[in-house]
Amino acid sequence: MPEEERALSPCLTAQDGEVEFSLRPKTLREYIGQAKAKENLSIYIEAARGRKEALDHVLLYGPPGLGKTTLAGIIANELGVGFRVTSGPAIEKPGDLAALLTNLNSGDVLFIDEIHRLSRAVEEVLYPAMEDSVIDIIIGKGPSARSIRLDLPPFTLVGATTRAGQLSAPLRDRFGVILRLELYSPAELALIVSRSADILGIGATKEGALELASRSRGTPRIANRLLKRARDFAQVLGSGEINLASARTALRSMEIDELGLDLIDRRLLRVMIEQYNGGPVGLETMAAAIGEEAVTIEDVYEPYLMQIGYLGRTPRGRVATSAAYAHLGVAMPNAQQTVSEQLTMNNLGA
Ligand code: ADP
Repeated sequence: MPEEERALSPCLTAQDGEVEFSLRPKTLREYIGQAKAKENLSIYIEAARGRKEALDHVLLYGPPGLGKTTLAGIIANELGVGFRVTSGPAIEKPGDLAALLTNLNSGDVLFIDEIHRLSRAVEEVLYPAMEDSVIDIIIGKGPSARSIRLDLPPFTLVGATTRAGQLSAPLRDRFGVILRLELYSPAELALIVSRSADILGIGATKEGALELASRSRGTPRIANRLLKRARDFAQVLGSGEINLASARTALRSMEIDELGLDLIDRRLLRVMIEQYNGGPVGLETMAAAIGEEAVTIEDVYEPYLMQIGYLGRTPRGRVATSAAYAHLGVAMPNAQQTVSEQLTMNNLGA
């Protein structure tokens, strides 16, 4: 199934549309969860404002849909400066980045999503810009080419990535603030669902909101999407209100189980268990077996499956845990049990 059609995709899809923007919190106070990141940021923001300086460059990392773009917008808003948005793949040439940088106003926030996808040549323009607020531009070609240095206004780069490990060391080192966003708890997601329901004028009980929240894989974007789908079911089949019963009907129709796993998650676990004896199985092998890209498995499926303790990473590949066997109702062979127990102990730091 393409990510586009998947109710549980944490990636921005066309169906999320404009609504996603109206649901974005604008201030740190409205931003739910991520206590640690928020606490640090509020101090840095206040200090930068007090000194009337641009905030240090910030790198946000974590799985898609956790609120990186939202947080970048909040940083600009709280600082009272302009906000420019672009992404790694959109900046094709060094000149594209130079144009963006020279058009910034003093103190502005430049947000680069998927910053790990910047080309090497573009990245090199970024280094002196981040460090000394200057860029070197080459004018002309061949022997008559010369480089001129342009001063830039002070600015804050906010970079977002799903994979901090893929960032080159020189780029990573130039960020003064590095924040990791975590998957949200069901209680936090329930607050997000209730807040979104209020904004969209949807009636939702606490139990209904919590039911949607607990099946949203720790991801606000998914929680908001399930809310919109559940509204349709509640409207057509029920009173229009999202309560426990109507939320459950909607989730059942979308084939999302009580843990928030959908058909693809279950297929992934089933393939591991039935075709590879629960693993270890290599990422590429798994990708080929279920017809998904390896990066999608890594960014989209694995974080949540690991968080709920269904899948583990070992040096030799991925393994399904005893909890995954139990969830699918398959008995676990003895030899596999030893691997699973070992893994649980390792995860617990034993
Ligand atoms: P990312 O950039 O990490 O993919 P986004 O910032 O686009 O994620 O967030 C996706 C959606 O989730 C946003 O529309 C926003 O409404 C919602 N969202 C994310 N984080 C929060 C939060 N902490 N509180 C409330 N809503 C949030």
